[in-house]
Amino acid sequence: MSVLIYADINNGVLTKNAYEAASYGAQVAKTTGTNAIAIVTGTAAGLEKLGNFGVTKVLHVADASLDNFDAHKIAAVVAQAAKAESATVIVFPHDYAGKAIAPVLSAKLDAGLVTGALALPNGNVVRKTVFSGKAFADVEINSAIKIISVLPNSVDKLETGGSAEITAFSAEIPTSRITVKEIKKESTELSLTEADIVVSGGRGLKGPENWGMIEELAHLLGAATACSRPVADIDWRPHHEHVGQTGLAIRPNLYIAIGISGAIQHLAGVNGSKIIVVINTDPEAPFFKAADYGIVGDAFVVVPKLIAAVKKLKSA
Ligand SMILES: Cc1cc2nc3c(=O)[nH]c(=O)nc-3n(C[C@H](O)[C@H](O)[C@H](O)COP(=O)(O)OP(=O)(O)OC[C@H]3O[C@@H](n4cnc5c(N)ncnc54)[C@H](O)[C@@H]3O)c2cc1C
Repeated sequence: MSVLIYADINNGVLTKNAYEAASYGAQVAKTTGTNAIAIVTGTAAGLEKLGNFGVTKVLHVADASLDNFDAHKIAAVVAQAAKAESATVIVFPHDYAGKAIAPVLSAKLDAGLVTGALALPNGNVVRKTVFSGKAFADVEINSAIKIISVLPNSVDKLETGGSAEITAFSAEIPTSRITVKEIKKESTELSLTEADIVVSGGRGLKGPENWGMIEELAHLLGAATACSRPVADIDWRPHHEHVGQTGLAIRPNLYIAIGISGAIQHLAGVNGSKIIVVINTDPEAPFFKAADYGIVGDAFVVVPKLIAAVKKLKSA
């Protein structure tokens, strides 16, 4: 018996979400007295680092045909690894990859699946958020094989200091139903779903020409930029920056919302952030109710002051 963790990679490097899933899986393995084994698909390096989060063995399927993401192919490979290692629990990060692969695998293995887990399981019961983060649900998995996808930034990563053995795993890779011809990246900016800090702007910024200060603040803080939906709809910012119910759901450690009212549909995508800072001229803006820190003020006055303060702090 074992706990198998799907550790995803981006450009050949393990993602932050992969380490979180590894740590989650290792903690489950510890409580169930089994081993935490990770599986990595495609060209990748630095896999031994998973050992620091409790993984004892990494199965590497280093086939370049898996470099382009294909959930159908990867699910087939993970299913073979699960069988080879007699995995009873399979853990995914609840990110782009996990959201696509876990349901396919669940159907393949006839396994119960809980998506977006917030905490370690209590026996067979896993807690997740429902109703756009407004409520929790405790879900019991009754199947022999259990699949859990872990919400990013929800469970502490435990550094155990161990080292993982890397083993080549040879799997039968099915023929693809689709062919990825080319991937064109929209930008080289920090991934919004992986960023620790996000600086986000809304309609209160009046126009796209005013995003220079948002980008400057984000750059100084090593943050990604985001926006509210109307801002993307009216083409002030690209659609991939839109967060909320109909956009990306993010859970950074720090979310700075500037000139955003805090409508429920916006909050649905950001209310899992650890700390929320709101800058808005209207003291009655709904966002202040969800904020940890609030500044009632004009963004065009407050943000330049923040930029100056961060610069001063960094140069000190
Ligand atoms: C089905 C559905 C799905 C939706 N999905 C999403 C979604 O995924 N994401 C999303 O964001 N929205 C979504 N919306 C839209 C949502 O309801 C709000 O309309 C939207 O979030 C408002 O965007 P905003 O806060 O940028 O703009 P506004 O509501 O116009 O708010 C602008 C804010 O800026 C403040 N402000 C003005 N001037 C300044 C200044 N100089 N300095 C500081 N503050 C200032 C104002 O006080 C105000 O609070 C959805 C709506 C529906 C119906």
